[in-house]
Amino acid sequence: MTKVVIIGGGPGGYEAALVAAQLGADVTVVDRDGIGGACVLTDCVPSKTLIATSVRSTYVRESARLGIEIPTADGRPDVTVDLRTVNERVKRLAQAQSDDTAARVLKEGVEVIPGEARLVDPSIVAVGDQRIRADVVLVATGAHPRELPSARPDGERILTWRHLYDLTELPERLIVVGSGVTGAEFANAYQGLGSEVTLVSSRERVMPTQDADAAEVLEGVFRRLGMTVLGKTRAESVTNTGSGVVVTLSDGRTVEGSHCLMTVGMIPNTANLGLEEAGVRLDKGGFVQVDRVSRTSTPGVYAAGDCTGVNMLASVAAMQGRIAMWHALGEAVSPLKLSTVASTVFTHPELASVGATEEDVRSGRVDARVVNLPLDTNPRAKMTNSKDGFVKLICRQQTGIIMGGVIVGPRASELILGVSVAVQQRLTVDEIAHTFSVYPSLSGSVTEAARSLMQASPE
Ligand SMILES: Cc1cc2nc3c(=O)[nH]c(=O)nc-3n(C[C@H](O)[C@H](O)[C@H](O)COP(=O)(O)OP(=O)(O)OC[C@H]3O[C@@H](n4cnc5c(N)ncnc54)[C@H](O)[C@@H]3O)c2cc1C
Repeated sequence: MTKVVIIGGGPGGYEAALVAAQLGADVTVVDRDGIGGACVLTDCVPSKTLIATSVRSTYVRESARLGIEIPTADGRPDVTVDLRTVNERVKRLAQAQSDDTAARVLKEGVEVIPGEARLVDPSIVAVGDQRIRADVVLVATGAHPRELPSARPDGERILTWRHLYDLTELPERLIVVGSGVTGAEFANAYQGLGSEVTLVSSRERVMPTQDADAAEVLEGVFRRLGMTVLGKTRAESVTNTGSGVVVTLSDGRTVEGSHCLMTVGMIPNTANLGLEEAGVRLDKGGFVQVDRVSRTSTPGVYAAGDCTGVNMLASVAAMQGRIAMWHALGEAVSPLKLSTVASTVFTHPELASVGATEEDVRSGRVDARVVNLPLDTNPRAKMTNSKDGFVKLICRQQTGIIMGGVIVGPRASELILGVSVAVQQRLTVDEIAHTFSVYPSLSGSVTEAARSLMQASPE
């Protein structure tokens, strides 16, 4: 029986464990924080739970436009959030999700050892004094928040997102440093919860890695709802004054707030693991170098998830982990294909995307046609008063095969599946255009976008 030892119980690790157990291997997972990993306990699951409350309170605040009368003290909608209750729910839900995942893994016969593991050599994993022999090792140790020496998080007023769920009161004036996906999600979430938010962005626009039109729509929504967005400037330092924080910017300005949330990237958890000693190559940033079937430079040692830096998403971590096990245990396996990964920024509205981008088209990397259909013409969007957003489809110039798409709108994370299926299955705009969508529905904009990309057949 093949002995598989997995270091790290996040999506990269536990999904791999499930596959390896299904294929009949003897599987041990070593994890120091809890099955589900940072994904379930501190990062993805808690943030999306918090955002669920934020979105709900935004809907309530805006419901007067739909004719709903909410008793108010001073004429303004009186929506307040009890952050203690919110955070208690967030932590309870994260723990329950971790427990459910652990139960599932144990049910499949996987051994779980709590503790910190390291490689002694490519076929021996140490946990304290215990030595575990392994035919196959999977490293899935994740990553942790990057810290700036001049803005060290103290957990009190200078925070990483992992501190947020210990707050018992809503930050009155929150400064978010970093306008990538994580920064944008939290800035928007706290805005929805009722904080006054300033977002510090080193780039010209927020979310520089996302579709430019989508980022523009979202920045417009942020500003309209009162967020201050400071572009093209960096936070040089952050000081806890005892009663608040002062952020000094690279252009000399200072910004004062009650709390500062640092979202300036991730560092892989690859130090002191014995990786380099075992011949596992890391890149300059400390990420494990892997190929598309998750092999490292050391035979028998695989890696998956955030510690590889390939694409820091739970879905990608899980797929890398599964691929590693299929490969290691001799199953037929397709290498990881990043061009079909769907992802979502959980702002309100959401921003979901998959496949080729408009930037690919503009730069000439892809020969394609693009259509962008604003949501404000969609009847369902009008009915629900959710008109910020659009559906963008990208199809191959000659064949009409759908290569990518972007959706900005409510529940874009759900709506993108249709576009993902089209990209994965290489469907054409004609095939989507001939597919029934419900009337009225937001997905009607996907079929309409496809119709507008159809071309008359040559005579
Ligand atoms: C705020 C935030 C929100 C996010 N939201 C989303 C989202 O909406 N959708 C999405 O797809 N992705 C999201 N992500 C990304 C997602 O959380 C990660 O991609 C995912 O957690 C990666 O999984 P992983 O298995 O690589 O690592 P992790 O989930 O980090 O798990 C690694 C585990 O390994 C353990 N470990 C580390 N070192 C050792 C050791 N030496 N011995 C034993 N155990 C060890 C850790 O304790 C941890 O339990 C978000 C990330 C952040 C920061």
